[in-house]
This record gives sequence, C-alpha cells and structure tokens, in this order.
Amino acid sequence: MEASHFLIIYILVTHTLTSGMWWAAGSWMGLSRRASKHWMLSSACFGIGLLLTVLYADSVDTVQWMMAGLLVVVGAVSLRRGMQTFLKLPETACEHALVTLVGVGFALIVALPMGWRGGGMAACTAATAWVLARLALECFRPLRAEFGPETAATHATLMGLVVLTFMTTALALTLPQTPSPWQQLPRDMVYQWLVMGSLTLSILSSFVLGYVVVMRLVRRLEHLSHHDGLTGLLNRRAIEAMLDREVQRLQRFGQPFSLLLIDIDHFKRINDRLGHAAGDAVLAAVAGALKEEAREVDRVARFGGEEFCVVLPHTSEEGALHAAERLRAAVAALDVRWGDEGVSVTISIGLACAEHPTETLSQLLRRADEALYQAKAAGRNRVVLSMLPAAA
Ligand code: GH3
Ligand code: MG
Ligand code: MG
Repeated sequence: MEASHFLIIYILVTHTLTSGMWWAAGSWMGLSRRASKHWMLSSACFGIGLLLTVLYADSVDTVQWMMAGLLVVVGAVSLRRGMQTFLKLPETACEHALVTLVGVGFALIVALPMGWRGGGMAACTAATAWVLARLALECFRPLRAEFGPETAATHATLMGLVVLTFMTTALALTLPQTPSPWQQLPRDMVYQWLVMGSLTLSILSSFVLGYVVVMRLVRRLEHLSHHDGLTGLLNRRAIEAMLDREVQRLQRFGQPFSLLLIDIDHFKRINDRLGHAAGDAVLAAVAGALKEEAREVDRVARFGGEEFCVVLPHTSEEGALHAAERLRAAVAALDVRWGDEGVSVTISIGLACAEHPTETLSQLLRRADEALYQAKAAGRNRVVLSMLPAAA
C-alpha cells in the first residue's frame, strides 16, 4: 500500500472515531455538552483539513490548500473554545477573529491570487500554532488545580509538541529556497512524517480531553455519593466510614475521639408554622453554623432528617464538652431570615467520648443517642455528656 493511501485511511478512521466520540459524549451521555460540540467540530475540521493536504499533496491547485489551511485554523479555534467552556475560562472571541482574519485573510487575499501556495499555508499554520500555544498556557493552572500536576503537564507537553510541529511546518513552507540538511531529505517523506506527527498528537490530545471529562464526572459522582444535597455536609454513609476508621485507630494506637449527636429542637413546629421550604432553610443555616464553628480536622455530617453528627478526632471529654458548647451557642445565636420573619433555632447535643478500645461503634452510638435523649428530656438547648456504664 502506498504511504499516502495509508495516511488517508489513518486520518479517516481516527478522526471519524474522535468526532463520533465527542458527538456521543455531548449528545447521548450529556457530558460537558458545549465543550463536546466544540471538540467534535475541531476533530472534524482537523481531519478534513489533513485529508485535503494529503489528497492534494501533488496538486498545484491552491484552492484546496487554502481550504485545508482554513479548516486547520478553525479546528484549533474550536479546540480552544471547547477547553475555555470546559474550564470556565473567559472566551477570547476577538482574539480568534483577529488571528483567523490575519492568517486566513493573508492566505486568501494575498497568497492565493499571487500563487504562493507555501506562503498561504505558512500563514494558516502559524495562526494555528499561535492559538494552540495560547491554549496550552491558559489551561495549565486550571488543569493543575482540578486534575493535578501530572494531567496539566501532560496536556501542556502535548500542546507544546503540536505547536512545535506546526511551527516547523510553517518554517519549512516559508524557507523553500535556503539549502539545509532538512531539504536533503525526500520532500514526501518529511511531509508524511509531519502529517503522521500531527495526527498522532491530535489523537493523544483527544485522549487527554477524554480523560479530564471522565475524571470530572467520576469526581462529581464521588462527591454526590459522600455528601448531602441540601446542606452540602458529609452524609451518613461517609461519616460512618470515618467513625469506623476512628474506632480502628483507638483499638490500634489508643487514640481517643469524641462523637456529638445533634438534633434540632422542635423542628416540626418550624415546618408546620412556616412550611417545608423554611424548614430546609433552617437546616441549611444550622449546617453552615456547625461547619463554621467546627475545627478544620473535625468532620460534620447530616445524619438524617434534622439530625447531625460531628466527629472530633484526638479529643477527649474536656475538649469535646468545650467544642459542643461552642456549637450549641453558635446555633442559638442564629437568626434565620424567612421573608420578614426571623426564625430562632436551638439544638440538643448528646456527647460520647470513645476511650476504651473494647467498645464497639454501635455501643458508642447508642451512648451518644441516650445522652441526646437526656438533653431533650432535661429541657433541650443543652449538651449532655454520656458516662461509660462503669464510670457512671
Ligand atoms: P424534638 O425537639 O423532640 O427533636 O422535636 P422535633 O419537632 O424536632 O421532633 P422530630 O425529630 O420528631 O421532628 C423531625 C421533623 O423533621 C419531622 C420531619 O418532617 C422533619 N424533617 C426531616 N427531614 C427534613 C427535611 O429534609 N426538610 C424539612 N423541612 N423537614 C424535615
Ligand atoms: Mg429528630
Ligand atoms: Mg428534633
């Protein structure tokens, strides 16, 4: 098989696959819809542009070459716009219009009528390199912040290589007269390697984009499975897993920890008087106050309904009592606005300190629950410390 035939098949297969992948991701799976559309367009433009250059490699007809140049510029702009949408970066429509106008305008208005095939292609290639270099630079920080330094570095390296390939192409196209070792190589071979190089890099960058889209989805699912939708706090499943780990630490290393079970007082009255939405607002306000008052290392969760749970690692009785009292006072000081009305709210807290390695998690939870019940019975808006049966 001739090398150009192989290239044509390679371009067709890879770009149909990547365009199809972005179409499916955006339309079927609803993954980053707007970004996927830009990336589908980008992949299609790159594919058709490269196809034109291979198909008309030996043709003197400049129109096809200019079309190819134009498509590659549009492909780069779409790739960058997709990334800007995905990472919520400011869009740079004016810059894109200017770059496209300069690159493609030069090719169509100057190079095409003068028959400068190389010059026109070089202008488009340089415009593409500019857009991709700017893309690599502006994405580095946001990618590192969201997906870690490895992903940001991989993306930047790939984009850097693509820019290098385009710059080399632009240079090779503008310096046809200068004798250089580069020109001693068979023209077709150099050209085919450049096309192969840009193709491979384009596929690799599609993989990186696919990876970040999937990673964002995985992180969102992880977050949803560990957090409560209304308050944004950890949910019961997540806090129980943490409690398990704390119990293991206590058993292995003798590290004590404390557990607060919290219940809003007379919450039903708020719901009945002002409605469920007001109740939800109070829940969110209490959650916010608990999170605000807790230390960085403490874990605050919504245990269910209007009950919350706080785990205080490395904390024994005295410290936990102090912390619980602080949380109680913070909630009592809240003035939740609902329409014109201010809603005041209080909480009762059952506190159990885990200090004995033989005590199981369910025993500990039962003790905290009993203490909470006592706090309610004693008049609410207070903290009750649970005593171990022996100590009691
Ligand atoms: P107590 O002081 O004895 O705890 O009185 P209470 O009114 O808080 O009693 P109880 O625990 O029985 O009431 C809990 C109420 O919380 C009942 C339920 O309708 C309401 N509730 C549970 N989950 C939600 C929620 O997500 N939003 C709202 N608005 N209400 C909820
Ligand atoms: Mg309750
Ligand atoms: Mg209650």
